[in-house]
Amino acid sequence: MNANEMRQRLDEVGGPESMTDEIPKHHVPLPVPRRPKRVLLDLASVCNLRCPMCSVWGSEDEVSIDSVKGTMRVDAARRLLDEMIGTDVMIQPSMWAEPLLAPDIRSRFIDMKQRGLTVAMNTNGLALTDELAAFFVEIKLDSVFVSIDAVTKSTLKRIRGISKLYLLQPSRTASKLGRRAAWRA
Ligand code: SF4
Repeated sequence: MNANEMRQRLDEVGGPESMTDEIPKHHVPLPVPRRPKRVLLDLASVCNLRCPMCSVWGSEDEVSIDSVKGTMRVDAARRLLDEMIGTDVMIQPSMWAEPLLAPDIRSRFIDMKQRGLTVAMNTNGLALTDELAAFFVEIKLDSVFVSIDAVTKSTLKRIRGISKLYLLQPSRTASKLGRRAAWRA
């Protein structure tokens, strides 16, 4: 649809005068894909960190943070995944939450991979165990990003809201995960 057609369409549907006036003559609308390139599947609103920059968990208002909760129903998640079968949509489990803390996490990932979908996961790595790493390699999870933002306690405190560096130990599992994946390739 070019700019003139868009104006006509807005006139037809009774779009506000100001809206049509705001569209410059040289405007070329961007194509809108039928599906997004990436779908964020918020499996559960939960996180084990309190990063100050986080728009959900960074608040100092403990009461409002405590009110953030919820888990996506399994049937709802499966219905959404079914709609993505046969597409090149990338599924990203949980945004502004820690995906590894979602209940029954292995089944959730199997649901994604059984449908032939590309899955990319961001995690802070704290809950990543050897067993989970082996599982992710086994199901051929497409990519895992482990966020490690500090190597000193003070920086870690500022960036992630905790100062216990030893808690990042499980992130070493990520390198094991990489070795396993390379071994299987
Ligand atoms: S790890 Fe991610 S979701 Fe959790 S508090 Fe930090 S930025 Fe927010």
